[in-house]
Amino acid sequence: MTSILRQHNIMTPSSANTAPLDIAIIGAGPGGLSAAHALANRGFSVGIFDRAQVLRPIGAALGLADQGYAALNAISPELCTQVHSKAINPKQQLLMRPNGEVLFADESPMAGTSFTWLGWFTLQSCLYKALPNPVQLNLNHTLTEFISDQLDTPICLKFLNQANQFARIVVGADGYRSVVRNKTVGDGPPLYTGTMTWRGTVPRNNLVPLEEPFIGGAGFQLVVGEQKNFWMMDAGADRIAWGGTAPQGSSEKSKSTLDTALRVFENWPSIVQTMIRATDPLSIIETGVYDRKPVSQWGDGQRITLLGDAAHPIRPSLGLGTTLALQDAVTLAEMLDAVTLTDITSVSAALTRYEQTRIEITTPLQKKASEQGLASHADDQADRLKIGFEAALASRKK
Ligand SMILES: Cc1cc2nc3c(=O)[nH]c(=O)nc-3n(C[C@H](O)[C@H](O)[C@H](O)COP(=O)(O)OP(=O)(O)OC[C@H]3O[C@@H](n4cnc5c(N)ncnc54)[C@H](O)[C@@H]3O)c2cc1C
Repeated sequence: MTSILRQHNIMTPSSANTAPLDIAIIGAGPGGLSAAHALANRGFSVGIFDRAQVLRPIGAALGLADQGYAALNAISPELCTQVHSKAINPKQQLLMRPNGEVLFADESPMAGTSFTWLGWFTLQSCLYKALPNPVQLNLNHTLTEFISDQLDTPICLKFLNQANQFARIVVGADGYRSVVRNKTVGDGPPLYTGTMTWRGTVPRNNLVPLEEPFIGGAGFQLVVGEQKNFWMMDAGADRIAWGGTAPQGSSEKSKSTLDTALRVFENWPSIVQTMIRATDPLSIIETGVYDRKPVSQWGDGQRITLLGDAAHPIRPSLGLGTTLALQDAVTLAEMLDAVTLTDITSVSAALTRYEQTRIEITTPLQKKASEQGLASHADDQADRLKIGFEAALASRKK
């Protein structure tokens, strides 16, 4: 078979006199960066490629508890300790309706548990700064295409306005709109659930005077009603993170995310409007909430696989997206441990074992998150949360 690489006149590493990477990871989110740690710790040469021009503080808070920290600990106990030291366990909790009616104002049912909130960017920067020495993060690298030709030839990765790169294995950790998945699974764009989200973080100093439950630090507040949700929490690094969800007919991005967020939550408690107004408009993330039907194979069955949201996008209702991505990274490294990458049969068997192990765990969770995501916009959601918080607090105090 004539090599497609040769047909396209692409210079391969042997002709360019540079060795291919063992593993190229597309995406420097929590999934891609944690996989880089786990794989480099096992002796593989790893390169990460992300379309971002710079790493900057965007995103809001994500939740991590026992399972997430266990995965981080398996990757690196020092990294785990460092991330944990920057996270916040909520102490005070407030639940209200959009008209200001308070339904729950008490100690948080999660106080004293392993659950923490952490800034998305805080996790990304901890993972980035602690990358083992030889691992390169290549920013401004948007993957557009890859060519996996003959199995004895490295995979050729093509980027927008950048030189081609070569690797023996490719891991698509490129989020819910994954370019890698588009080729390996080919199930088209993700399914819009009819819900939009807006997320941001604000320095606590920008919010003077502070309102309860944030005055003492470690606050968590939810405003729920009109089929919408708005949450605010201390997320460490002296920042308060917020996020809101609301049903919207289209997932089209607005011209001004700030104005849209203000309009969607107009006439809600003043703290909601204050929080949105105090946020750097350029750092507000507006995205649709997307789902995909679980599939039985993520990669090409040979030397390309997926990880994190690219493999199993999950609605945020269970707060498990990051935890699952970290666990994927640990399992992938375990399965590839001691595999000789030039032995395609062993590589293919290891990647298949990785996918099967993780698909068994992620598929039921994707389905559960989908059901809970629908319920979170039900008319009685605030009342159900109140009952749940009261029961959880009572059982914790027993
Ligand atoms: C900017 C951003 C902010 C987020 N904020 C939050 C938040 O506040 N709270 C929360 O719970 N979750 C947030 N998430 C989602 C959360 O990180 C993921 O659900 C989860 O952690 C799984 O991580 P992941 O690494 O699989 O995917 P992601 O975190 O989505 O990371 C995917 C990475 O791939 C890169 N990428 C995508 N396409 C390409 C391409 N073609 N070429 C090269 N690189 C590409 C993206 O730039 C991104 O860095 C955010 C994601 C992003 C990208």
